[in-house]
Amino acid sequence: MARAYNFNAGPAAIPLEVLQKAQEQFVDYHGAGMSIMEMSHRSPLYEGVNNEAQTLMRELFGIPDNYKVLFLQGGASTQFAMLPMNFLRPGHPAAYVQTGAWADKAIKEAKLIGETVIAASTASDNFMRVPNLSEIEVPAGASYLHLTSNETIGGTQFQEFPSTGDVPLIADMSSDILSRPVDINQFGIIYAGAQKNLGPSGVTVVIIREDLVKEGSKSIPAMFRYETHAKADSLYNTPPSFSVYMVTLVLKWIKEKGGVAQIEQYNRDKTKLIYDAIDQSGGFYKGCAHPQSRSLMNITFRLGSEELEKQFIKESEQSGFVGLKGHRDVGGLRASTYNAVPLESCQALAQFMADFQKRNG
Ligand code: PLP
Repeated sequence: MARAYNFNAGPAAIPLEVLQKAQEQFVDYHGAGMSIMEMSHRSPLYEGVNNEAQTLMRELFGIPDNYKVLFLQGGASTQFAMLPMNFLRPGHPAAYVQTGAWADKAIKEAKLIGETVIAASTASDNFMRVPNLSEIEVPAGASYLHLTSNETIGGTQFQEFPSTGDVPLIADMSSDILSRPVDINQFGIIYAGAQKNLGPSGVTVVIIREDLVKEGSKSIPAMFRYETHAKADSLYNTPPSFSVYMVTLVLKWIKEKGGVAQIEQYNRDKTKLIYDAIDQSGGFYKGCAHPQSRSLMNITFRLGSEELEKQFIKESEQSGFVGLKGHRDVGGLRASTYNAVPLESCQALAQFMADFQKRNG
């Protein structure tokens, strides 16, 4: 069976070994005579999956004991709303680092709930970089500071994170969670939709410090309170059980690969192939993100004209590549090189780029 060279931005590639394992267990999970998705979420077998997902997340990402790991629904977009609903207090604005379309969506939701301030913005650079830490101004008494660790659309990524003192730092890591080690202690909350680095869509991982779980608003509906889910171990209502199960398989795969530090090295090797193809093309390919803000997950680049870009996409599709069209808001080209994208796909893309340049340069 030929696998596509899958550079989709999300839902995105899942490791072949993971899909094969899921296939093996699909109809009969551990001799239960049924699929995991047919099973009660209160059954010991599913509780095992739920616990294993948590334990592996903790182990691989180095999550300290004073944080809860939650598996929620509604995608990262629901977190855009849930965060201000829980933590945005009157008289204490929520501060946002504005680095692109996803940050903007988070800000828009917070504005419906209360006062927001922009702690730093790279709008004047068309979001083609993340701010330096010295540009980020955290207002004293802010309810929290929110940033997007990796902007999936622009292809920019924070290399280091600001110190925010008593103000909790909240990160949307939807498009780079588990792609590199991070010091969890810097953050109050980390959240991510699963469908890029963790598995299929349908589950959102939230890593939240225990004091924040307690601090969340008590006057919002139960489903929107972190405390509800923390107390119930993510089993308050019917969880997205099949997606959580798939996340456990992806986490085991990361562990087999040697853990997150190894994955980061692998990601660096992969993206170097494509960034080199851009940088060594004599200007035929133009990288969009400023070099110091370049993402290891989403590589954005352009060609000399939109016609040539269309031609590139058409020919790439004919050669087995998928998902190289840039986001509809910004155009151009984008290769998403999440954890599950194999080195061979990146080698093939670098080769395709060189050949395309020879034909059209
Ligand atoms: N945040 C970032 C950085 C994203 O890339 C995405 C999706 O692409 C989202 C949030 C939205 O995630 P969801 O579709 O899970 O709501």
